Amino acid sequence: MDTQSTLAMEGLPQKPEKPLDSDCCGNGCVPCVLDIYAEELAIWERECARIKSGGTSHSVGQEEEENGEYESPALSSSEYHQYQITAVIPETHDTWRFTCRLGPDQSLGLLPGQHVVIRGYVEGKPITRQYTPVSDVRLKGAFHLLIKVYRDGRMSQVVRTCQVGDGLEIRGPFGCLQYTPNQYSRVLMLAAGTGVAPMAQLIQAMLTNEDEEGRVRLLYACRTYHDILMKSEIAEWRQFWNFSATFLLSQEPPTETPSGQYQYGEEIVHGKINKTLLEKELGKNVSGTRVLVCGTRSFDSDMLQILDVCNFPKDHIFKF
Ligand SMILES: Cc1cc2nc3c(=O)[nH]c(=O)nc-3n(C[C@H](O)[C@H](O)[C@H](O)COP(=O)(O)OP(=O)(O)OC[C@H]3O[C@@H](n4cnc5c(N)ncnc54)[C@H](O)[C@@H]3O)c2cc1C
Repeated sequence: MDTQSTLAMEGLPQKPEKPLDSDCCGNGCVPCVLDIYAEELAIWERECARIKSGGTSHSVGQEEEENGEYESPALSSSEYHQYQITAVIPETHDTWRFTCRLGPDQSLGLLPGQHVVIRGYVEGKPITRQYTPVSDVRLKGAFHLLIKVYRDGRMSQVVRTCQVGDGLEIRGPFGCLQYTPNQYSRVLMLAAGTGVAPMAQLIQAMLTNEDEEGRVRLLYACRTYHDILMKSEIAEWRQFWNFSATFLLSQEPPTETPSGQYQYGEEIVHGKINKTLLEKELGKNVSGTRVLVCGTRSFDSDMLQILDVCNFPKDHIFKF
């Protein structure tokens, strides 16, 4: 009998799956997927010990919910808490916006740019992935997640079946971006796809801080116009004096989407973020500029390479 069958017979949860070495991007992420695995093992060992000593296998928070005393607990980085889904709304053809409930006076407790880890189960086996709530970190009573569903994605299989009323097991916060108002006169954000999520938190923090004099410039790369996430929020942010955004569409020829479909004020460029464009965006004020990068692995590596070619100082770059 294999280990997992033995665990199941003893009523113990299955052991977390070790990530492949290739799952680590080697860019020094905090936390790295391998750190998350080490913590998952420790959490699993504690859960097994609790069950063996007579406790049950349910997640933290479930007991309160069963007793009708459900009050979403604050985040913990060492234990999963369960947050009830109150809305699931399609954002695009492959990305869903989940709203989760918090206590009426409770916020999630993230700092701008921080993310959480969600645990799901595929065939009884726990898997974890990182996600960045897109709601303002100060929002009370709820938080929002934007999650892209990949056809062959493992967590995507879990996310696809999530419904209103289900609970999401979440721990956190994680991430080490430090936002200090007025530290830079300009923050240039290079985002692709769901990489706009951590930028959203920081944009909200900067635009609503009356003392902030720094400007925010978002270059947002998507395949087509219909893949752009958070269009309505971006339109609202555009009302602020210190925010501007350009959408870069890599797979949509200019003729494909009639310009009449674009919303008023949207700046669209057909193509990718390349060296010429980035050089122009960076301009001469290098010392006052901070660059934030978040996208797919290939997008991140392309952006870091171009910044390097442009001699942009590495200590002014933050890659999520
Ligand atoms: C700090 C951090 C924050 C994140 N925040 C969010 C978020 O807010 N919303 C969100 O949807 N995702 C976010 N992600 C990505 C997320 O953690 C998962 O990697 C993603 O949801 C895919 O998981 P999966 O299990 O469905 O796919 P997997 O089983 O891991 O992969 C399935 C397939 O999808 C491809 N794939 C996986 N991830 C990506 C990607 N990012 N871009 C392109 N191809 C990919 C893989 O190459 C593979 O072919 C974040 C990642 C990090 C590191």
